[in-house]
Amino acid sequence: METLKRTKVKELLKTEPGKQVQAKGWVRTKRGNKQVKFIALNDGSTINNIQIVANTGDFDDSIIKGITTGASICVTGKLVPSIGSGQAVEILAEELTVYGECNPMTYPLQKKDTSLEYLRTVAHMRLRTNTFGAVLRIRNAMAFAIHKYFNEKGFIYLHTPLITESDAEGAGDMFQVTTLDLNHIPMHNGKPDFSKDFFGKKTCLTVSGQLEGELGATAVGEIYTFGPTFRAENSNTPRHLAEFWMIEPEMAFYDIEDDMELAEDFIKSLVRYALENCMDDIKFLNEKYDGSLIERLESVTETGFQRVTYTEGIRILEESKEKFEFPVHWGIDLQSEHERYLVEKHFGKPVILTDFPKEIKAFYMKQNEDGKTVRGMDVLFPKIGEIIGGSERESSLEKLETRIDELGMSRKNLEWYIDTRRFGTVPHSGFGLGFERLLLFVTGMSNIRDVIPFPRTPRNAEF
Ligand code: ATP
Ligand code: MN
Repeated sequence: METLKRTKVKELLKTEPGKQVQAKGWVRTKRGNKQVKFIALNDGSTINNIQIVANTGDFDDSIIKGITTGASICVTGKLVPSIGSGQAVEILAEELTVYGECNPMTYPLQKKDTSLEYLRTVAHMRLRTNTFGAVLRIRNAMAFAIHKYFNEKGFIYLHTPLITESDAEGAGDMFQVTTLDLNHIPMHNGKPDFSKDFFGKKTCLTVSGQLEGELGATAVGEIYTFGPTFRAENSNTPRHLAEFWMIEPEMAFYDIEDDMELAEDFIKSLVRYALENCMDDIKFLNEKYDGSLIERLESVTETGFQRVTYTEGIRILEESKEKFEFPVHWGIDLQSEHERYLVEKHFGKPVILTDFPKEIKAFYMKQNEDGKTVRGMDVLFPKIGEIIGGSERESSLEKLETRIDELGMSRKNLEWYIDTRRFGTVPHSGFGLGFERLLLFVTGMSNIRDVIPFPRTPRNAEF
């Protein structure tokens, strides 16, 4: 007999009945009676299960007993029209193999408590839930959509390093990378002697690929990075990870207006891609966690983002009757509560905030004529707050150097970067989109730990 090849469940559910088929996967549920069992099988290819109908008389008792929630099996049989399963087709089992049993007495998914918090403590099971299946498929689709978007626009995917020399960027607290023996640190004048370290200098994990990205953009025009980013932020918030993924486009000859236009078009196109390609999973998440998810996603693709200056934003917040935990005045770095007030209560749509006080923004942002503000832009989203941070970059060598000095930063460590302004400098802009913040928005999940398979947060790196 010709050997049958396995077909994935997603395919099977779209297949005309009548054929002999084979499916492999994990048992979600088994119900039925003494004569016949109905098994819901899932293989991760879709949120939907395929139903398997097994007449118990056709199989060994031990096989039927071994088919419990979580067990892995292979089934061969005829694909037939289904009346009761909620799907068009089901499999009438002829052969059943159990690959791995799953003891119902000890398998934790049997327990009532399958809260997202609890799942974070059970690695093997977490990813097998419907919720994480949906999240992982959406995450994958979004990663693909990002590459597709930039590829179609002619951007170059630039790989920036994960290990960098420290104190170059100032975007957040950094994780140090060293091969020094921490029990016997070589000392020089009372300080660790990094000339003995692997790179001969103190090095850290990157907090942003931007500076290297600017070198790419001022060489080949338009680039984007998409990779892991590390910040040793000790804040345990639902929006921060110690290891997250960031997308950082950087474009020569773009001013701040071009930058904002790209950011808005980019996010809208990603959300549209999700609505067109991930609807089964989005529907599931909409039903289970967030009843207004689909509505919110659709609305973002249809509305123009509100553009408003930081100064105007502060005025709106000051004049609001809202009680904020952090008081508002010109000069503060906006907190998530402020950002969400502007987005959710005041404007009722995504907001792009621009022209921030230079004191709260990085050294590389282009300075405005007023001497007080810089040409930065933050895209603020409902439920999340800041999802994108970007700016036009300072292209004047003199202004850039002056700013670096003012901030007491070391020019010496930045010469490789400053050279872009020395030799053929151009107006240019860019931004950073936090991949997991995007996923929070697209999945409607409320904790950033639940949109990444293996979250890294303070005191948590086991799996
Ligand atoms: P926040 O103020 O929310 O901490 P930030 O201003 O420090 O963010 P940027 O340096 O502007 O962040 O980084 C660009 C983008 O990267 C942010 O808009 C956000 O989407 C994302 N991001 C920043 N820090 C984190 C983090 N710790 N975990 C996940 N995403 C992050
Ligand atoms: Mn920011």
